[in-house]
Amino acid sequence: MPDDFMNLTARFPADDFTNGPCGRSVLVAGGAGFVGSHLIDRLIARGDRVICLDNLSTGRLANVARHAGNERFTLIRQDVCDPILIAGAVDEIFNLACPASPPKYQIDPVHTFKTSVLGAMNLLELARLKRARILQASTSEVYGDPEITPQPEGYRGAVNTFGPRACYDEGKRAAETLFHDYHLQHGVDIRVARIFNTYGPRMAADDGRVVSNFVTQALAGRNLTLHGDGSQTRSFCYVDDLVDGLLRLMQADVTVPVNLGNGDEFTMNALAELVLGLTGSSSGITRKPLPKDDPRQRRPDTTRARDLLGWQAKVPLAEGLARTIAHFAAEMALATPARTKENIPCAT
Ligand code: NAD
Ligand code: UDP
Repeated sequence: MPDDFMNLTARFPADDFTNGPCGRSVLVAGGAGFVGSHLIDRLIARGDRVICLDNLSTGRLANVARHAGNERFTLIRQDVCDPILIAGAVDEIFNLACPASPPKYQIDPVHTFKTSVLGAMNLLELARLKRARILQASTSEVYGDPEITPQPEGYRGAVNTFGPRACYDEGKRAAETLFHDYHLQHGVDIRVARIFNTYGPRMAADDGRVVSNFVTQALAGRNLTLHGDGSQTRSFCYVDDLVDGLLRLMQADVTVPVNLGNGDEFTMNALAELVLGLTGSSSGITRKPLPKDDPRQRRPDTTRARDLLGWQAKVPLAEGLARTIAHFAAEMALATPARTKENIPCAT
């Protein structure tokens, strides 16, 4: 489907489906992960029935534990690479199942690729069978190490098929192709979100991405691990903004890919300074080599999201980081036993 086929007239959903009771049956693959669990909170809050399908590889039961016992919530522990059989109606499917952190997705690159491609195919087959609308969590990684900035959806990217990030980048690109072809060939009602770096509470502390690394390191008084000279850039979107964008996209009449991200661009040096300032940490910096194929710059062109969804990210980085820091500080305090009279080591 060519990009220029679109009618660029704004097509907002008639109702605000991001809030209010809806009562749909929604399957969230990867729902026990960082983004998925926030999405599920919103779906449950608006009155939907939610099936969370997850193999718990990078996700955690704790992320969805608050919904245990809710009759509108079901958890299925399953790998999306296996055929997916669901009894009853499914109105909407969000496919978020895939490790998103480079160190995590590079542990088993073949399985990462299978997760992206076979997972997408299995979920598209389910969507076809159930006549469900399906949204793919694609990524800014489809642009690879981009030669232009900001990156609009029409940019075709610069991805190395033979590098450590290829299992993820090419897997996500292939998944987009499958979405496109199931739409054209089988009439499946698709949505494709190209998500840029997103952060917030419930990222796993050992996730390996830059925000969770810097924040946990600063809070623990350890040096921040800064890759390369720190001049590479990213644009960081707070998770609540992203979930809002995903919900809007699902309800809009838009079958072309849409960038979802925050337009503010920061170097990793600037991010490190900001985290140190907000935590009040006296941690230093340990320089590490820049990983192979690490993109030098990344910033979304969000014109399409603004025009078609009426969406743009609102939460500034400093504000989102403060909330994220508070979350990790609380998690770390829980993990550290309180020093009572009984457990304080006695010098005598
Ligand atoms: P995450 O690792 O926290 O969540 C991924 C979830 O998918 C986890 O619960 C994991 O257990 C599950 N999963 C992984 N492989 C699976 C498999 N084979 N079968 C079933 N479940 C599986 O990552 P996240 O940050 O929440 O990302 C969610 C989605 O958004 C991913 O698809 C990711 O590629 C995409 N995305 C995220 C970002 C970001 O910055 N957070 C950016 C671009 C794209
Ligand atoms: N990075 C870093 N220190 C870390 C982890 C990551 O300097 O401890 C860098 C990484 O090399 C990249 C940027 O931060 O340049 C963003 O990395 P992340 O893994 O969060 O996401 P991605 O590279 O997929 O955008």
